[in-house]
Amino acid sequence: MQSKLPRVGTTIFTKMSKLAEEHQAINLAQGFPEFDCAPELQVLVDKYVRSGKNQYAPMAGVMALREAISQKIFTSSSHEYHPESEITITSGATEALFVAISTVVQRGDEVIVFEPAYDSYVPAIELNGGIPVFVTLDPQYETIDWNVVASKISPQTRAILVNTPHNPTGNVWKASDLQHLAALAEENGLFVISDEVYEHIVFDGRQHISASSIPGLAERTFACGSFGKTFHTTGWKLGYCLAPAKLTAEFRKIHQYVVFSVVTPIQFAVAEHLAEPEHYLKLSEFYERKRNLFFDAINDIGFITRPSEGSFFQNVSYANLSPENDRTLSERLTIETGVASIPVSAFYDNITDFKTLRFCFAKNDDTLLRAAEALHKVV
Ligand code: PMP
Ligand code: GLN
Repeated sequence: MQSKLPRVGTTIFTKMSKLAEEHQAINLAQGFPEFDCAPELQVLVDKYVRSGKNQYAPMAGVMALREAISQKIFTSSSHEYHPESEITITSGATEALFVAISTVVQRGDEVIVFEPAYDSYVPAIELNGGIPVFVTLDPQYETIDWNVVASKISPQTRAILVNTPHNPTGNVWKASDLQHLAALAEENGLFVISDEVYEHIVFDGRQHISASSIPGLAERTFACGSFGKTFHTTGWKLGYCLAPAKLTAEFRKIHQYVVFSVVTPIQFAVAEHLAEPEHYLKLSEFYERKRNLFFDAINDIGFITRPSEGSFFQNVSYANLSPENDRTLSERLTIETGVASIPVSAFYDNITDFKTLRFCFAKNDDTLLRAAEALHKVV
């Protein structure tokens, strides 16, 4: 049989989690919290399961959840997304991204993708007959050269895919980046697919700026979010897509045939939990402390790095410490040192070694300290 994704194997996250399990290594590879969600949220799920909210949800999502999201966005950015026509609840951000890409990409269309890039973007573009056009950034990059981005745009460019806070670099876009994006998208009539799953995890006083909050940009943007990161519930695969009504109508035509609708009782529970902003507004502070703990604990190893600006990932370059390839080193560290990481070259299309590893610090403090201690044996 001819493969539709000939260049794709098992994801690096699956591979490294399996290796970590086999060798009983501390898993700082795949990004998921080691801790559980709030007990109040568990009680709410239980309440809705027991009260019979167990059949198909409406195709676009439970209205209470769409209303809660609309309210939350209006409070933070004064932008109004109508629950009826502009918000769709999805099976994680992964489905939101896949459907948004499927909605806009026609055969032969080009899509601008910044790499390092989250692994689901390129297969989704290619399955739709699109062509990813890469803007390649160093994993330690500090600023984006928007002239380079502009130089990648052709008459075939249909969309640009962005991700802030960024996985895997941890970079958070500044207001000027979003202004550049808005200008470029408007000038060239591009759709914007904005992956904002780490929206509530930003450090050192930074603010996450959603593409949905920028006039001129919101009209052409599919903003994708996930409750997995915000409520420590990656296993629930609950996400959403915000887009203007005309775009949402097309998005839903595809969403209805990918999953139709997603898990009902959890949507009710999350709607109620979301109504209390303290459930997510303290997340940055929570993770900033963990970032500091982990960063300080590995600081004297001699990696080239700077503290992550957002997300729950810390990248380190070991180029000055070892000539080893990042895929080989991350495997060796898992097996010999007992700490699993993700080789950052896995986030690139055509680069096989960047001498950079990504560590997930969404872990208990003692796990992070044990991992840091073990990492001192890297070189
Ligand atoms: N985008 C990025 C950047 C991610 O890191 C992840 C999850 N790890 C996703 C999308 C997918 O989110 P979900 O688990 O809600 O599908
Ligand atoms: N987003 C998670 C990460 O970056 C992994 C999710 C997955 O395994 N697909 O580690």
